[in-house]
Amino acid sequence: METNRLAKKALEPLALGHIRPRGWLLNQLQIQAAGLSGHLDEFWPDVAESGWIGGTAEGWERGPYWLDGIVPLAYLLDDGGLKAKVHQWIDFILDHQQADGWLGPVRDQKYGYEHDPWPVTVFLKAMTQYQEATGDSRVLPALKRFFSRLRDILATRALTSWAQMRSSDLMLSIYWLYERAPEEDWLLDLAQTIQQQSYNWLEHFEHFQYKERQTTWQHESHVVNTSMAIKQPGVWYRLSHNEQHRQAVSTILDMLDTYHGQATGVFSGDENLAGRNPSQGTELCAVMEYLYSLEVLLALFGEAHLADRLERIAFNALPAPFKPDMWAHQYDQQVNQVLCVVAEDHLYTTNGPDANLFGLEPNFGCCTANMHQGWPKFAAHLWMQTPDGGLVALSYAPCLVKTSVSDIPVSVEVNTDYPFRETVKLLVSAEHAVRFSLYLRIPQWSQETTLVIGDRPGERIQQPGTFYRLDHLWQESTTLSLHFSMPIRTQTRYHNSVVLERGPLVYALKVEEEWRHIRGELPHADWEVHPKSPWNYALEVDPTHPEASCRVEDHPLGVTPFSPEGAPVSIHVQGRLLPIWTLEHNAAGPLPMSPVASTHPLEELTLIPYGCTNLRITEFPVLER
Ligand SMILES: [Zn+2]
Repeated sequence: METNRLAKKALEPLALGHIRPRGWLLNQLQIQAAGLSGHLDEFWPDVAESGWIGGTAEGWERGPYWLDGIVPLAYLLDDGGLKAKVHQWIDFILDHQQADGWLGPVRDQKYGYEHDPWPVTVFLKAMTQYQEATGDSRVLPALKRFFSRLRDILATRALTSWAQMRSSDLMLSIYWLYERAPEEDWLLDLAQTIQQQSYNWLEHFEHFQYKERQTTWQHESHVVNTSMAIKQPGVWYRLSHNEQHRQAVSTILDMLDTYHGQATGVFSGDENLAGRNPSQGTELCAVMEYLYSLEVLLALFGEAHLADRLERIAFNALPAPFKPDMWAHQYDQQVNQVLCVVAEDHLYTTNGPDANLFGLEPNFGCCTANMHQGWPKFAAHLWMQTPDGGLVALSYAPCLVKTSVSDIPVSVEVNTDYPFRETVKLLVSAEHAVRFSLYLRIPQWSQETTLVIGDRPGERIQQPGTFYRLDHLWQESTTLSLHFSMPIRTQTRYHNSVVLERGPLVYALKVEEEWRHIRGELPHADWEVHPKSPWNYALEVDPTHPEASCRVEDHPLGVTPFSPEGAPVSIHVQGRLLPIWTLEHNAAGPLPMSPVASTHPLEELTLIPYGCTNLRITEFPVLER
C-alpha cells in the first residue's frame, strides 16, 4: 500500500549485516567486544540483573542502552557468543510482553514513572536492528501490540520528563514499523500525537536562550537531550513535509557550534551546555547520540556536510574517552585535557569529582550503558542505498558492502587505512552486468581529489563537499582508487587559539601519561591519568601557512591505532613553554589570549590524532611573530 503521508527518505540505510567491517575498523570492533561491551552483562548489576530480564536491579534505560549497542556489534562481527546474549535478552522480553502489550517493566523503582515510554524507546531501537539482522517474525506483531497500548496511555497521560525531551527516537520506531506495515495507518496518528506532546526543539533553537555556560541542571540545556534533539527537525519533516523543518537542522548545528562548539565537532556539556572553553567537558552519551542523530539525518536528507561532521566526530571525539583497550571510559572528555583525577575542585557545570576519570562508571552509570552504540552504528551506516538502487559512500573506513541492485548481487570492498592515510581503494563487483550509480562523498577539506577507474588515466574531481556520481554499467570487478588531498589546516578558536587538522583528523599534543589504578577490580577498574611531560606550550605556526612549520610523519598502523603509542601518524611542529599558563581547578587554566610571548627555547613538539590521546592540548596559544 503506497502512501504519501510519510515523506520519503533520501537514502535507505542497509539492513544490519550488509556491511561488514574490515581492517582497522574490524580490529576496533573486536577490541570493543573483548572489552567492557562484550562483558558488561556478566558482572555489572544494572545489566546483569536488569529488571528487563527479570532481575532486581535497574529496570529502566541501562539494559536497553547496552542492547542497543550490543545488537549491531554482534551482527557486524557475526560473533556467536554475542548473538547468543542478544537472543537471551530479546527472547525474555518478547516472552514477557504484558497481556496489554506493554514491553518491559511497567515502572523502575528508582527512575522514570509508570508506563514511562523512554526506556522502551531505547529498547525499540535495539529490537528494530535485531529484526533487520534476523528477520525474526515475532518482532512486528510485538511492536504493533506495544504501540496500540501506548496509544491508549498517551490519550490520558501525555509524555513527560525524558520521554518528552527524547520523543524523536520513539517516532523513528513507529515509522520503521509503518514502513513494514503501511496498512496500519493509525501508527502515523500515534506519531502525530507524540509530536504534539513533544518538547519543541525547533522553537527552542529558533529563540535560543542557552547561549552561556549553564550552571543549573535542566532538561532544556542537558547535553544528551540536546544531542538527541538534533534529529527532531528531520523526524518531524517526514510527517509535516515542511521545508522549514529540513532547514532547521542547519540552524541547530550553527547555534551549537557558535555558542558551545568544540574543536572535535561536538559541543560542550558537563552535563549542561558549557560554552566554548576547551577545558569544559562533553559527556560521552552526548557524543554517541550526536553520531546517531547524524546517521538518521543522513538517511533523511543525504547531505554531504552531515557526513563530514559524522566523520569528524567519529574519528576524534568517539575514540577519545575510552582507555585504548575499551575496558574503561570517561564520563566527560575535555578538548584540552591535562589531568584526570578525582577532584572536588573542578570546572564542570553540574558533574561531580569523578567526571573525567577513566573507569567503570565514573560520575554516573548512563555512559557505562550507552557507550556501546557508537562504533557499531557508525560501521553500519558507512554506506546507504538511493531509491533507484544506487550506492552511496557516506564515510570511508575499511569494510565489505554486500547488497543487490535489481536483484543482482553486488559488492563493494573498501580497502583503506583512511582516515590515517589519503587513499581509498574500492573493488566493485557484480554477479551479472548491471547499471547503477555509485555516489562517492568528496570531503569538504579535500580540495584536490583524484579518481582512477581501472587502468584509465586519473581524473581530477573538484567538487569538495558534494557527492561525485559515477553512473556505470558494472560487470565482474572494477577497481577504483580515490586519492584525497590532506594538507595541514588550521582553525582559529577560543581566545584566538589555533587547532591543527589534517583530513578528518584533529591533532593534539602527545603528553606522556602515568596511569594510576585507584580502585576497582581489573580489568574494569578506575584510573587516574597524570601528565609526566609539560603541556603548557604555545605554537610557532603561521595559521595561514601551517605547512611551512609542520612536518607530517606516517607510522605503521598497528592493532590499537587509537592509542598514544599506536598513533599511525604524527605532526611535528615547534613551540615554546608558556609558564603563565597553569593548572587551575584541576584542569588547564584559562587559555591565554593569542598571540602570546615566551622567552623559553623553541622545542620540537609531537602532535598525534586527538582520538589517540588520553591527555592532550588541542587548542594552543599562538606565539607572536
Ligand atoms: Zn552518559
